[in-house]
Amino acid sequence: MFFRPKPLKAFQRALGKYKVLLAEEDRLTYSFDVTSHRATPDLVVLAESAEDILTTVHFALDEGYFITPRGAGTGMSGGSVPLKNGIVISTERMNRILEFNPDDRFMIVEPGVITADIQAEAARHGLFYPPDPSSYKVSSIGGNVAENAGGLRCVKYGTTKHYVLGLEFVTSRGELCCTGSLQKTVDTPDLTPLLIGSEGTLGIITRIMLKLIEAPQTSGTMRIIFPTLELAGNSVSEIMAAGIVPAICELMDKSVLDAITEYAGTQLPEKTEALLLIEIDGTPEEVKLGLSQVEELCRNRQALEIQSTRDAKEAEGLWKLRRAISPSLARIAAGKINEDVCVPRSKLPDLLVEAQKIAAKYKLRIPCFGHAGDGNIHINVMFNPEDSLEKQRALQAVEDVFRKVVRMGGSISGEHGIGIVKQNYMKLQMSPGEMQTLKLIKEAFDPDNIFNPGKIFPE
Ligand SMILES: Cc1cc2nc3c(=O)[nH]c(=O)nc-3n(C[C@H](O)[C@H](O)[C@H](O)COP(=O)(O)OP(=O)(O)OC[C@H]3O[C@@H](n4cnc5c(N)ncnc54)[C@H](O)[C@@H]3O)c2cc1C
Repeated sequence: MFFRPKPLKAFQRALGKYKVLLAEEDRLTYSFDVTSHRATPDLVVLAESAEDILTTVHFALDEGYFITPRGAGTGMSGGSVPLKNGIVISTERMNRILEFNPDDRFMIVEPGVITADIQAEAARHGLFYPPDPSSYKVSSIGGNVAENAGGLRCVKYGTTKHYVLGLEFVTSRGELCCTGSLQKTVDTPDLTPLLIGSEGTLGIITRIMLKLIEAPQTSGTMRIIFPTLELAGNSVSEIMAAGIVPAICELMDKSVLDAITEYAGTQLPEKTEALLLIEIDGTPEEVKLGLSQVEELCRNRQALEIQSTRDAKEAEGLWKLRRAISPSLARIAAGKINEDVCVPRSKLPDLLVEAQKIAAKYKLRIPCFGHAGDGNIHINVMFNPEDSLEKQRALQAVEDVFRKVVRMGGSISGEHGIGIVKQNYMKLQMSPGEMQTLKLIKEAFDPDNIFNPGKIFPE
């Protein structure tokens, strides 16, 4: 894209030249996220403050450029890939915790703070920030809010949206606005929920006020192996129906366990078809009771093996299988489409069975695992990217999965967002009226479509 030299110079002077990247090798590093989508921005701004973002938005408005906000680039739906080129605003340098009030249990942070740093700072004061996407050591809180990130602990503690008290953001007209508790007017409609999960299409988030809660005193971990998927799935439903709410309830199907066995040589009982990893947290008494109740329930459901511990080091051993999933799958095939679908918990076994039928139909491997406690499962369609026919079959398999999920009353995205990768499937799930309403909201916030164009809405 052509930049007029004079306005560009003035912009660089206003911002500080060192915050503006124009060299191709620099811009390339902001051209991708975790998906296979790539698009190189024409210019990258390394914002250090809300003022830098305001200056950039005014420059973009005057010169007619698009803007794509970017956190840490760990997104799994293409959200931070600048489809229409233009400017990428990276918030990686806006990484300060601005205020921490342990008494009133809130923290105000800039969007570039890494999720794990928020958790660690809260923990230092005996407090807890529960949302824990598996990427928590590298993802930014701005990206978490923009995607409404979930994670392992959603089943008990909810997703990012349950911990955002207020936001500050830059509008597409280049103004700074506040919402929720950062705005302080309590009786007006709160815009916070609209911005959460908006994937950088409505505004650029510059400050986030987060709710913290009291940290659980202790936790216990269980690894339970089942001879069938149905028994594992039904056990999850029974555990929840009994009023036990695990902090974590992860399920792995046989296809994933086979991949781990191939990779790590792990020995599992013969006839293993599914594995549950459960964590109970609370007071020592609650944990003890919860573990024994889950154990009894699972024994009645013909569990082949149950391991349980309240020792943190031993628990780490039980987590080994879960942590081995990514490297194990990487060995199966170079191509992987990881879909984070969600179904009502009771439908989970049906969905996993359907996924294996689809795998057989398209002659592909589809290992599945995920957050069984809230019905959010990662369906991984593995393929050889060099083989265009196999890639085509993989895409058809994904569409089949989405159709099944919607028929089961579920959602095509549980946590990774729509971005580029799911925009063409939105119509499977939303009525024309619902799509139109979303578009009207986008038009109200961003009438000229300068923020993250080409995302969420099929064009
Ligand atoms: C190994 C791995 C495991 C993962 N596990 C999980 C998981 O368990 N749960 C989960 O939900 N996700 C998971 N993810 C996906 C990803 O980490 C999350 O979506 C995360 O929230 C993205 O944060 P980010 O800072 O990398 O954002 P980016 O990828 O940089 O951006 C994501 C979106 O947010 C927008 N955005 C970023 N910052 C702002 C801002 N300041 N204002 C407005 N919009 C903004 C971008 O435009 C883009 O649309 C995982 C990813 C990886 C690589």
